[in-house]
Amino acid sequence: MARFFLGRAHYTPEMPEIGLVGLPNVGKSTLFNALTAAGAEVSNYPFTTIEGNVGVVPVPDPRLGRLAAALTPDEVVPAMLRVVDVAGLVEGASRGEGLGNRFLGELRAVDGLAHVLRCFEDGNVAHVLGRVDPVADARLVETELLLADLELLQGAIEKRRKAWQTEPREHAVERQRWERWLALLEAGEALRRGGPSAEEVREQKALGLLTGRPLLYVANVGETRIAPPEALAGRLGAPVVAITARLEGELAELEPEERAEMSTALDLGASGLERFAEAAFELLGLVRFYTVAHGKLRAWAVPRDTPAPQAAGRVHGDMEAGFIRAQVAGWEEVVEVGSLHALQTDGRLRVEGRSYAVRDGDVVEFLFRAP
Ligand code: GDP
Repeated sequence: MARFFLGRAHYTPEMPEIGLVGLPNVGKSTLFNALTAAGAEVSNYPFTTIEGNVGVVPVPDPRLGRLAAALTPDEVVPAMLRVVDVAGLVEGASRGEGLGNRFLGELRAVDGLAHVLRCFEDGNVAHVLGRVDPVADARLVETELLLADLELLQGAIEKRRKAWQTEPREHAVERQRWERWLALLEAGEALRRGGPSAEEVREQKALGLLTGRPLLYVANVGETRIAPPEALAGRLGAPVVAITARLEGELAELEPEERAEMSTALDLGASGLERFAEAAFELLGLVRFYTVAHGKLRAWAVPRDTPAPQAAGRVHGDMEAGFIRAQVAGWEEVVEVGSLHALQTDGRLRVEGRSYAVRDGDVVEFLFRAP
């Protein structure tokens, strides 16, 4: 059995980060724990919690498992996702009531938001507002985030006003941009609705603005499934992933064989955690490619359309600088044939140059000139 490696060494700044938001008692911590338990299971290292409720979660990846079974490497390293679980947002948080500022500060660095909605009925678990109504909850949390952004942006604008007046030309772009954002927020629209460019997203992130980040909803449907996610998706205007956080957490604690049995018995299909991770990757526009070298099979996450040299650079700086070409096969072919070498012998390994954009599921061997 291949060794799955996960440790502090795999903490890298380019690791994608998702923040869990939502009202208290909707299942955020339960989801976080399920993700980390699933992570601990593929790791023989102590699970990485960077601080408090920030976890590094290996992205559940059935393809990686299939590749590992076919290639029998010594080590398997999955792609990682950083997940931040902040304390539940309460009404009034944007005005510094309750957990406001700490909450918003912790979310500053996230690339995307996963908004957990309580869809389960359970008389033993209090709902902060006394009723299960995921659409109303979604609106309420969105409003709090909007108000927080509005206040933050107004403050930032106030600080720049003098500079805008004394050097109008130099600051024209910034001014126009910030004022456009302000108009959106004042109209009660998330910054996301303005279709921010990549540069705008970076600037919003630097300012700590949250409503421009990509968003997905996690419908914690519980065991009773009161809110079909299809209906929710239409009403929320963002992707929705349905999970049963508590059950997922319990499954993640089981031994693999037991888990498979339970999964089949309960007819769960792909685990909710897998779907969550997939959706998070999709939301952030990330794809995964794989490398096999020195007995190590590894998954790498890069933004969609990353050219091969930059993808190589993720593996090693020298590989980008000295990039010659990439030899590529789809993961399914590798699973079918059992090695990249055998594919090459069969003439089924594609040769790709600098302009090739790495695709999701590619198994890649980079050829490069050593410096
Ligand atoms: P958070 O405040 O959003 O982090 O919520 P928690 O994860 O602490 O969950 C609040 C309560 O809801 C806990 O008692 C959980 O056991 C319970 N809970 C979470 N997910 C489910 C679920 O899928 N079904 C049921 N019945 N209860 C759940």
